[in-house]
Amino acid sequence: MITPSTIAVFEQVMKQYAAELRQIGLTIDQEPDRITEFLHTSALQAINHMMIPPEYGGQPIVTIGNERYYGLTSLERVITIEQLAAGDAGVFLGGPGPSMSSIVMMDLGDEEQKERFYSQFMKGPAWAVFALSEPEKGSDATEISTRITRHPDHTMELTGHKFYIGNGHRASIGLAFAQTNRTPLGIQAAIIDPSRPGFTATPLDTMGLRGLRLSHLQFQSYPLEEQDILGRHLSPTKRGLWGALRTFHRMRPSVAALALGVAQAAYDYVTEHRTVFTEREKTGLERLEIRLHSLRNMIRHAAAEIDHDANKGYLASLSKIRAASLAEEATDWALDMMGPGSMLEHPLLNKWYRDARAFEFMEGTTSIQKINVFQAYANGKMQHV
Ligand SMILES: Cc1cc2nc3c(=O)[nH]c(=O)nc-3n(C[C@H](O)[C@H](O)[C@H](O)COP(=O)(O)OP(=O)(O)OC[C@H]3O[C@@H](n4cnc5c(N)ncnc54)[C@H](O)[C@@H]3O)c2cc1C
Repeated sequence: MITPSTIAVFEQVMKQYAAELRQIGLTIDQEPDRITEFLHTSALQAINHMMIPPEYGGQPIVTIGNERYYGLTSLERVITIEQLAAGDAGVFLGGPGPSMSSIVMMDLGDEEQKERFYSQFMKGPAWAVFALSEPEKGSDATEISTRITRHPDHTMELTGHKFYIGNGHRASIGLAFAQTNRTPLGIQAAIIDPSRPGFTATPLDTMGLRGLRLSHLQFQSYPLEEQDILGRHLSPTKRGLWGALRTFHRMRPSVAALALGVAQAAYDYVTEHRTVFTEREKTGLERLEIRLHSLRNMIRHAAAEIDHDANKGYLASLSKIRAASLAEEATDWALDMMGPGSMLEHPLLNKWYRDARAFEFMEGTTSIQKINVFQAYANGKMQHV
C-alpha cells in the first residue's frame, strides 16, 4: 500500500537513479545511440525491469520491508517517473524495458505470449515498441490503416507504416496495432519480432526527447503467426483498440508526471543557480512552486483513481493538459530567470526547453484530451469530481 512514508522512500530511491540519468542526459541528447554504453548503471538496470510482474521474472524497483513494488500501478509509476524525469526525461524514455506495452500484455496476452514477451528483458536490457500512431493517423486511432491480411492458405501478413514510435530502431520485441476489417472491433494488437523479414525501422531526427529515438516503422508483407495475435482468448470487444484505450488511460498520468518532473527540474535549477530575486521574481517563484505542488496532487489523485477504475481516464486527461502546459511555462520561465544568453550558457535549460515541447503530443494533444473530458462530462461521469 502506498502511504506518505512509502512515497518518501520511493522519492529517495528514485532521486539516486535520477542523479545517474542527469549525468548522462546531455551526452544522450547529442548522441542517442550511446545509451548502450550506460546500460550497466543501476538506473537503467532498474528501468529495464520496471512494469514486469514478478511471476514473469520482474525485480522490484523499490522494496520497503516485506513490500515489493514493481511499477505495476499508476500511482507507483507517477511517483517514480516524476523523479526520473527530473533527472532526465530523454534518458528515462530511451532506457530499456517493456514500458507501456507491458500494460497491454497484462490485459490481453495469454500465458505463452506473456512468457515470450517478458523473457526478452530477463536476458539483459532490451527495448519494446508500442506501435499505434501512423504518418497520417495520430489522434484518431480508429482510422489506422496498417492491415493484417489473412490469406486462403491460413498465412497472415502485416503491412503498413507506423510513425513517431519510441525506441523503434532499438527494439527486439513490441506490439503493433492494425486493422483486420474496417470497424473499431477490427483493430487488433500483435506481438512483433523485428528480426523477421519485412520489418524496417528508421530513426527520426527530433528536437526534444532525443534519447527516445522516435522512429518510422515499415511493415512490408511482414509474416504474422496466429500466436502473435493478442486477446485470442478474449471476446472481440475486449481485444485490440479496447486494450490500447485502457493503456492510454493508465499511462496518461505517467506522461503528466514526466512533464511535472521536467517543470520541477527547471524550477530547482533556478533556485540552485540564483540566490537574489526581485520582489516581482519572488512572486513568480512562489506561484510556480504552488502550481507544481497542486499539479503533483492532481496527478497522484488521477493515478490512484484510475488504479481503482480505468474508466476514469478523464482525470488523467485533465492532469495531462495542465502538466504539458506547465512544463512549457516553467522551462520558458527558467530561461527568462537566467537572463539573456541562457539558451547557450545553460545547456540543461536548453535541453529541458526542447524536451518540454514533446509532452503536448505524447498520448494525445490537448484538443484530444479536452474531447475526452467533454465526453465524460456529457455522459455524466464527471459529476463527482
Ligand atoms: C515524444 C513522443 C513519443 C511518442 N511515442 C509514441 C509511441 O511510442 N507509439 C505511438 O504509437 N505513438 C507515439 N507518439 C505519437 C503521438 O501519439 C502522436 O503524435 C499524437 O497522437 C498526435 O498525433 P499526430 O502527431 O499525428 O497529430 P494529428 O493527429 O495529426 O493532430 C494534429 C493537430 O490536430 C489536432 N486535432 C486532431 N484531431 C482533432 C480533433 N478531432 N479535434 C480537434 N483537434 C484535433 C491535434 O490536437 C493537433 O494539434 C509519440 C509522440 C511524441 C511527440
